[in-house]
Amino acid sequence: MRISVIPLLSGVLASLLFAGTASAGTLAQNGPVPAGKSPATSSPVYKSGKFEIKACEEQPIQPDDLDAARVYLEFVVDCLNTSWEDQLTRARIPFSKPKLATTSHVGTPTGCGKFPKGAQAVYCPLNKKITFLLDPGILSQATELFLFEVIAHEYGHHVQQLTGIMNTLNRKYKTQKALLADIRKIELQAECFSGAFIGSVWQSLGRRESDLSYVIQAAYDTASHGKSVNIAYWIRRGFDAESPDVCNTFTAPKPKVS
Ligand SMILES: [Zn+2]
Repeated sequence: MRISVIPLLSGVLASLLFAGTASAGTLAQNGPVPAGKSPATSSPVYKSGKFEIKACEEQPIQPDDLDAARVYLEFVVDCLNTSWEDQLTRARIPFSKPKLATTSHVGTPTGCGKFPKGAQAVYCPLNKKITFLLDPGILSQATELFLFEVIAHEYGHHVQQLTGIMNTLNRKYKTQKALLADIRKIELQAECFSGAFIGSVWQSLGRRESDLSYVIQAAYDTASHGKSVNIAYWIRRGFDAESPDVCNTFTAPKPKVS
């Protein structure tokens, strides 16, 4: 029987709010990133076309097996490295791999403070590291698409860092509302990047459509990550296009990033 994962995914989606806001003021010190006209609205990644690599092999996975889940995530990150390196190279954006760490409990150092309670994974732009919480909740559902979708989402934040899109948060906001509006664009774009990658390798995964819809329907409304209907919209939009070209949340109509 499938159990509700709504609190789980809320944790997932809460992740960048912490990492992003905690480090927003120091992002600019994080080495060279593409400069020039706002990468958020006009990055060449939006013209990089479809992912050309169409395969990613999932490693054997079963519920409640920490070691298997670790190996599984490492292999998905390998796939993401291969696909995104190819993609960014075509967009003439310098590529580097993110680091990956897993932890069994909250409070572990991430490079952007301690791993926050309620999050499933965190991307820290300062050290380009993804920290993934492998707790009993997600391990019990290890065969579902959550591990795959969440790691692809966090990787999306890494792509935002490499492209300079993340730097859009590196400015002074007059209101919390304005900050949240930009964080939503970052988060919904990470969902779209995740969907685009998943769509590109979907045929090789041998999964059912219900695996994707199960993950999508677990999302719910938050001010930092948007309405569940928009989360679903951006995942599906990326998935159908198999390309980051359709992921420009920064020029999207307001109701799509609410
Ligand atoms: Zn995120």
